[in-house]
Amino acid sequence: MTGELDDICAQVDCPKCGAELSVPYRQMRLQKAAACSCGAMIRLEDDTPIAAIQRLIDEANPPHPDNDG
Ligand SMILES: [Zn+2]
Repeated sequence: MTGELDDICAQVDCPKCGAELSVPYRQMRLQKAAACSCGAMIRLEDDTPIAAIQRLIDEANPPHPDNDG
């Protein structure tokens, strides 16, 4: 429907070195993991910041301007 979601990145903190990673939404869906430069593999399946992604998606694709509560 849209490829804009692939361009959305979520910030994930590496639990090992504390680095902030920008993980593309596409990668999160396909791999459900992010590899940090320190070698740590961050599993997103259990700790997926879906809420954060949803916010980004909402910002990228604002809902219809209907005042429906
Ligand atoms: Zn790291």
